Amino acid sequence: MARIGVLALQGDYAKHSAAVKALGHDAVFVKDKKNLAFCDKLIVPGGESTTFLKLIDRLELRAALIDFARYKPVFGTCAGLIILATDVVGFSLNPLGVIDLRVRRNAYGRQIDSFVDKIKVNLGDAPSEFDAYFIRAPKIDACLGSTKALAWHGNDIVMASNKNILVATFHPELTEDNSIHRFFIENF
Ligand code: GLN
Repeated sequence: MARIGVLALQGDYAKHSAAVKALGHDAVFVKDKKNLAFCDKLIVPGGESTTFLKLIDRLELRAALIDFARYKPVFGTCAGLIILATDVVGFSLNPLGVIDLRVRRNAYGRQIDSFVDKIKVNLGDAPSEFDAYFIRAPKIDACLGSTKALAWHGNDIVMASNKNILVATFHPELTEDNSIHRFFIENF
């Protein structure tokens, strides 16, 4: 049983914790450095990336998160992806820069342009489909360096990984299907 931290400063952390528990693992809400140190892996949920980054800096969590991401698995979804990326187009804040990725925020439009649709996922076995919730989602403009694409919505890359870091532009915690959380916990 792994101890999975869920960054709980803001956003959709409760549903991630429920998905982790449904898979038989321990979920820990991370609000400070002390909690983070006890975790084997970390999920950075969706929410609002600007608010997240301001809170991370106010709570002096930036260095601890970057250090954690250097050697432990981290899964960022939606705003979580934005926070982890190296290059966020036109962003006034500094993301953590732990996965080589160029990202555009709110790339599908406003809240009203949020949608659910099937995506194609390649988790290593046979390609499969997943119902993905896109909520004021970012788009991955480019996987840079050795970052690999793992899922697509049409031609758009919606999930990617590089070494111990996994990111998705959608919200896997909003579906009953826990396969993407399982993939993270078992493979990263
Ligand atoms: N639009 C948000 C941002 O830029 C992300 C939305 C989400 O996490 N659902 O941070």
